[in-house]
Amino acid sequence: MGLIEQSMIPLNKAIEAMKLDPGAAAIIAVPEKTTEVHIPVKMDNGKVQVFTGYRCQHSTIMGPAKGGVRYHTAVNMDEVKTLAFWMTCKCAVAGLPYGGGKGGIIVDVTKLSERELEALTRGYIDKIAGVIGEKKDIPAPDMNTNAKIMGWMMDEYSKITGQYEPGFITGKDISVGGSLGRAAATGRGVVTAALEALKVKGMKVKGATAAVQGFGNVGSWTAKLAFDEGMKIVAISDVFGAVFNKKGIDPYKLAEYTATSKGHSVVGYPDADPIDKELVLEQKVDVLFPCAMENQITKANAKKIKATIICEGANGPTTPEADEILDKKGIFVVPDILANGGGVTVSYFEWVQNLYRFYWSEEEVKNRQIDMMVKAFKEVHDLTLEYKVSMRVAAYIAALKRLAVAMKFRGMY
Ligand code: GLU
Repeated sequence: MGLIEQSMIPLNKAIEAMKLDPGAAAIIAVPEKTTEVHIPVKMDNGKVQVFTGYRCQHSTIMGPAKGGVRYHTAVNMDEVKTLAFWMTCKCAVAGLPYGGGKGGIIVDVTKLSERELEALTRGYIDKIAGVIGEKKDIPAPDMNTNAKIMGWMMDEYSKITGQYEPGFITGKDISVGGSLGRAAATGRGVVTAALEALKVKGMKVKGATAAVQGFGNVGSWTAKLAFDEGMKIVAISDVFGAVFNKKGIDPYKLAEYTATSKGHSVVGYPDADPIDKELVLEQKVDVLFPCAMENQITKANAKKIKATIICEGANGPTTPEADEILDKKGIFVVPDILANGGGVTVSYFEWVQNLYRFYWSEEEVKNRQIDMMVKAFKEVHDLTLEYKVSMRVAAYIAALKRLAVAMKFRGMY
């Protein structure tokens, strides 16, 4: 089953449970627009290499499309469309005035020099400039993209339009209109969702054990902020391997280690033992945080999962087959479109600050983010009780309710 088909399964369960109008359901099932571009880059060796990129606006029902740009060898049009669909749902669950979008370039960033990466980034913006913009579609970071790349994108787009355009993109450095608290925001949201889940399960936060898959932006901030709450992180993995310590790993020390380690990997960290990276998902912990990428919890390993709560920092880490297995096992899953909405929530704050040219304190950003996430969690949890569905299906119901009302008032069905 492809990613698009997979992503339709919980959506269709929600449509059925809430008896959504078939016209509204049909509108949501497909993206509004997808653009494919080919970007020639003059490489350092003098040869031209042509890269393929995409930008998809899944929906602009609630506002301009919004979502990150991913640089990865596995990027493809179906993945971009699915990620854009998840952004639509994520923004709607969080109650943001945004639709959903996503972009990507098929590239192995480890093979590019800094100059090549910048040329590719600027070339991508040149090609998609017509379909993006502050009121149309607002990009942001995703896998392998960061504040530096957002700065190049902002600069290139500002050159094209001939005006300063901070509001066209989020996840920027503070010096070019970024928001305080944006870098940690997705992790903060994931931890906020986990704290709410622990409350629902009547479990203590202090000393609660956790395992984290992934140590990029989302995984590392999730680990750090969970650690700050008093949770004990016993296992952490990345693409290269994993480390384990039953007494707990200090993620701040681990981040210091990965700042200079080979490939910035957790492998070789001296204050923990090496374990198989697959085993991170199978630890007997209170909370499992999958913070890497799609399709990590599958029907092959779902039976072996022993966590009480799964809080999805990644987009789409659980396949639908695995989801059913987890459901039967009674594992409390906080789905991606709720759990990892903290990133785009603070992107929204960044955009608002850009539009007003008036900047908030980190405390203000943090408090507003936590308020919005707690509210969204409660709304979704209440819907699980009302409709007798899982947290995942309830999150889609929450999103669809908002989208359906907006579609009705726009006269779309
Ligand atoms: N790429 C992030 C996500 O998947 C953030 C998107 C944004 O801030 O627009 O949620």
